[in-house]
Amino acid sequence: MRVNLLDFDRDGLIGHCIGLGEKPFRATQLFRWMHQRGVADFSHMTDLAQSLRSKLSESAHVLPLPVISQHESADGTLKWLFDVGDGNAIESVFIPEDDRGTLCVSSQAGCAVGCRFCSTGHQGFSRNLSTAEILAQLWHAEHFLRRRQGFHERVISNVVMMGMGEPLQNYHALVPALRAMLDDHGYGISRRRLTVSTSGVVPMIDRLAQDCPVALAVSLHAPTDALRDSLVPINRKYPLVELMQACLRYLDAAPRDFITFEYCMLDGVNDQPEHARELIELMRHGAGRGVSAKFNLIPFNPFPASGLRRSDARQVQDFANRLQDQGFVTTVRKTRGDDIDAACGQLAGDVKDRTDVGKRMTRTPIMISPSSQAHHDH
Ligand code: SF4
Repeated sequence: MRVNLLDFDRDGLIGHCIGLGEKPFRATQLFRWMHQRGVADFSHMTDLAQSLRSKLSESAHVLPLPVISQHESADGTLKWLFDVGDGNAIESVFIPEDDRGTLCVSSQAGCAVGCRFCSTGHQGFSRNLSTAEILAQLWHAEHFLRRRQGFHERVISNVVMMGMGEPLQNYHALVPALRAMLDDHGYGISRRRLTVSTSGVVPMIDRLAQDCPVALAVSLHAPTDALRDSLVPINRKYPLVELMQACLRYLDAAPRDFITFEYCMLDGVNDQPEHARELIELMRHGAGRGVSAKFNLIPFNPFPASGLRRSDARQVQDFANRLQDQGFVTTVRKTRGDDIDAACGQLAGDVKDRTDVGKRMTRTPIMISPSSQAHHDH
């Protein structure tokens, strides 16, 4: 079976090329062809020796993900649905802004964490993505956008691991993908512009600090264990005191200005003045000392099975003001791509009824609806 070269960071590719009897710098050339120039056909990699190109064509390929659909919103947000086989689909979303271009990337097909406000969580877990499947989302988006815009420069400046799945529960595939994103011979994304968002897998937060200290976002959504246990079930395993201490260790080990805390605003559940007070207390004293925190308040995108409602805009603003008055930088996430179901909480391939998908897949290869609601808010 041929090896998919998108599965490697540059060190991995060097190892692979050495195995083929090649010098390490050849791997760097190959890496640049693939990731900087978006070339998948070895015959177009003109500065590689013919002998290497032949060896590669026999043993390897650069295999992108099949695109099921692409939808573009009136506000320029672009959403791709990719087929990852066996009736599973994942999504990536590109959000253009004046000063940046952000790609939201998936790390798993489905998710095992099961957050109450997240449609992906309701659908359950299918499988981890490979490094190639994570990187292929960026590979496709970046080179598609460059071709379309006629740019030779980078279009995507920021990547957020906030699509489907809990990235830290797919750690071994995640880290090489992050390294390829950071690599100057790859995508050259800066560490501050590459964000891993986690629901709070404490041991893996510590490992990330050592292995690949990028920006960290924590999907918090509640200021107390009692409430968080019911919204983000992983809290029962890693309660808030452990999570906050892990955040402190992350800030110490991987010096950064702050950790971003994502907070999905749920009407009457976590959006009251006492929740804001408890949140401030948690940041100041929850870990024994203060955690440098920034808040991102996310308007909830309701879906029927959740039984939850979106907080109204005034409530969200009042909550934001309370945090800001205490000196916390707080943003309210703008809803983008509503018209193509690319807003937060609406992402991801429709794997609503896996059994049915599996049955129908035997008759027709692609039947995954792009208009589903799924995804997460971390
Ligand atoms: S919010 Fe994130 S961690 Fe929670 S179920 Fe959804 S995808 Fe999983």
